[in-house]
Amino acid sequence: MNMKTKIYKIDRENIDLNKLKEASELIKKDELVAMPTETVYGLAANGLSDLACKKIFKAKNRPNDNPLILHIASIDKIDTLAKDISDRARVIMDKLWPGPMTLIFKKSDIIPSTVTAGGDTVAIRMPEDIIARKFISLCDLPIAAPSANISGRPSPTNAKDVLFDMDGKISAIIDGGSSKIGIESTVIDMSEKTPVILRPGFYTYEFLKTYLDDIKLDDSLVDSSKIPKSPGQKYRHYAPKAKMQVYVGKNAYETIKKVAQEKKKEGYKVGILEFDDVLDQFDEFDNLSLGDRNDLIQMSHNLFTSIRLLDKKNCDIILAEGVEEANLGKSIMNRMKKSASGLVFNV
Ligand code: AMP
Ligand code: MG
Repeated sequence: MNMKTKIYKIDRENIDLNKLKEASELIKKDELVAMPTETVYGLAANGLSDLACKKIFKAKNRPNDNPLILHIASIDKIDTLAKDISDRARVIMDKLWPGPMTLIFKKSDIIPSTVTAGGDTVAIRMPEDIIARKFISLCDLPIAAPSANISGRPSPTNAKDVLFDMDGKISAIIDGGSSKIGIESTVIDMSEKTPVILRPGFYTYEFLKTYLDDIKLDDSLVDSSKIPKSPGQKYRHYAPKAKMQVYVGKNAYETIKKVAQEKKKEGYKVGILEFDDVLDQFDEFDNLSLGDRNDLIQMSHNLFTSIRLLDKKNCDIILAEGVEEANLGKSIMNRMKKSASGLVFNV
């Protein structure tokens, strides 16, 4: 602990392979390096090394029972890592990898139990981000990489946010600018007959159904009283230091304005996450835009970054407008509910 965290700044238009090579040497020495991906930044380690993976759990303060995702740079690596891969799994890998989709299979024998948290399945993803893929290729290893935040905090979508959580705890950060998508991958269990979405993500249920017609949502995503099958889904997550509340409904911004004014009168520092069309009504508060209310892609891109920015302003309370739980809105609301510890109000 308290090592010097080195930053490798990478220009996407002109990738310096020497810098990535230097960072890959750290991985080969079982050290931790944060890397950009198109979803969020990942905390990368040698996925075949028990020692390196244990360092991930320590740096993140991650609960021991929450398994890691292995990242690969080409599909042909899958057969050394997973067993019993169905033909339909191979079809969606071919169609949707590289991309924001993580698949769960029976694990092969070479995978350390730290990666799978002692279980017999392994989660695998091939990211699209070109820096991530070049870096993984240079490491020439499967790369274990959970989101590069302290457990329970919002996922980092740029190198600065990684540094805020991980400075002095990890060897290096590869700075590739801001993550294109901004929320995590969709996790699909392909280890049983029926594919099941365990974590909603950028690829939505509606979209995936066009490839896997019998795909289901995990019971916990339909009925919040059910226990999630994916260990990571049961923890408090994505949480700012401030208390957060989310309001959903036609004129939710009016309720948000009323609550914000009351809280301000009581002496609280209020932060607002609202859409472009109403943002000018919140000038008296610290406010940030979630973008255009009709553009869920923009909203997912802005969500974690904005929550972290309001935290840096030391807001006591964050009031945010949410969206309808359909398509990408379902994944966004999955994150917002957890950020707000369930304090979501339909108004
Ligand atoms: P993150 O920690 O941000 O990388 O998220 C990884 C997610 O994938 C967590 O919710 C984990 O619980 C989930 N996950 C990883 N491996 C498995 C697995 N073998 N079975 C079920 N969920 C998994
Ligand atoms: Mg995470």
